[in-house]
Amino acid sequence: MSEHRVSPGVSPALVERDDLPVRSARDHVWCLDRKHRRVLAGVNCGTHRTLGLFTETCNRCWIRRRPRHTWLVIDHRVPMPVDQADQPDDRRDGIVVVARRPVERAGVGRLEIRLRGEIVAAADLQLCGIDHRGVVRHVQVEPAHRQRGFGTLLLDAALARGPGYHWSTTGIGRTEEARDFWAYQDPAEPLHLEQPHYCTHMRQANGELG
Ligand SMILES: [Zn+2]
Ligand SMILES: [Zn+2]
Repeated sequence: MSEHRVSPGVSPALVERDDLPVRSARDHVWCLDRKHRRVLAGVNCGTHRTLGLFTETCNRCWIRRRPRHTWLVIDHRVPMPVDQADQPDDRRDGIVVVARRPVERAGVGRLEIRLRGEIVAAADLQLCGIDHRGVVRHVQVEPAHRQRGFGTLLLDAALARGPGYHWSTTGIGRTEEARDFWAYQDPAEPLHLEQPHYCTHMRQANGELG
């Protein structure tokens, strides 16, 4: 985020809205609506004071009054351990990615997104640091919080757990919503949909190897 200027045209009231879409902090090529290249369109940064988060505004989307011109930027790379997230803490007022470690090595862990302490999205995840594999098992977003980018943020948070890993998913579901979600993705790592490539450690953790 090198361009830390608040756009003179962006009204503070608009960027203080509570229901802005969210986006991971990775180096995205396109604006949120995938209409404009960020470097060409220009992105202005601001602050959402109530949530304590940075915002970004695509200048072209702003000028065109597109509804998703501004989004909240969420740190997706270093999730908060669940013990810490369960403590009273001022960060619970914002939006945080929370990690539940698996009980055993290469077992199923979980990433959650909490909005003011409430879990609004969660994904199950298996990771193996020996075989450099990751399997995303479910991505679920609470119905009241859909269409805001929480699922995409979760996927970015998951893939950031294993850069360069071989990534795959279990079944992605047959609903129109699920198809839309996966077709929208532009993942940071190559992702093999619906072909979970479990390693032996994962199979062991899943009880498949006796
Ligand atoms: Zn745009
Ligand atoms: Zn393994």
